[in-house]
Amino acid sequence: MIESELITRLNNIRERIKMAAKNADRKEKDISLIAVSKNHQLSKVDFFQRQGLQVYGESRVQELMDKYKQKPDLKWHFIGHLQRNKVKYLMRLNNCQLIHSLDSWRLAKEINKRAHKNKRVMPVLLEVNVAGDESKYGVSPEKVYDFLHDAVNLNNIEIQGLMTIAPHVARVEEVRPIFKRLAVIKEEMIIKGFNLKELSMGMSNDFEIAIEEGSTMVRIGSALFGERGVN
Ligand SMILES: *Cc1c(COP(=O)(O)O)cnc(C)c1O
Repeated sequence: MIESELITRLNNIRERIKMAAKNADRKEKDISLIAVSKNHQLSKVDFFQRQGLQVYGESRVQELMDKYKQKPDLKWHFIGHLQRNKVKYLMRLNNCQLIHSLDSWRLAKEINKRAHKNKRVMPVLLEVNVAGDESKYGVSPEKVYDFLHDAVNLNNIEIQGLMTIAPHVARVEEVRPIFKRLAVIKEEMIIKGFNLKELSMGMSNDFEIAIEEGSTMVRIGSALFGERGVN
């Protein structure tokens, strides 16, 4: 992978984020780029770090731990399905700053317990399965309120927002209603008194639509790093 190619990709993504924000009458600074480095070498992370990218997303605990060891100064987010028996490893990493993928009550209790042991309050996002896709994780839209309500009693997690993964569709515009729905759920929950700030939605194929619909965090892998498995 040639560095000029990575620069071109990064500039392209930054430009498109800026344009999407402008189209939606939003501020560019209200949208964070999470660079999804899964399956990519640390040398690329190193390169992007020098270009000013500070936040990286990983979807497997082992891979996050391996990369973290080399780069404990960066900010790491966990974005994949998290097994309960691996929560304890993440909680020891101070710069693992956000879990996007809280997808069950049992996981919430485990994160709460392990965060307590490590004397921290763990920021998390509640993953919502907006499309009701059986192959996907996340709570259903109808259960978001009860979940947030019950989670108030978990003192060592802080649910800062909502996250969703849009389904694969033939035409990218088809995902818009999914993002719109999650944004509406967030607003409804704010009215009900929950302090939700973040909307983690949008990936390489659909991040512009997600930004137009209110995303505050886009998780971008292949459009930045190249296809996974091709280094
Ligand atoms: C892999 C992954 C991404 C990035 O996907 P790209 O299509 O490569 O941008 C974003 N979010 C989650 C949860 C992922 O697992």
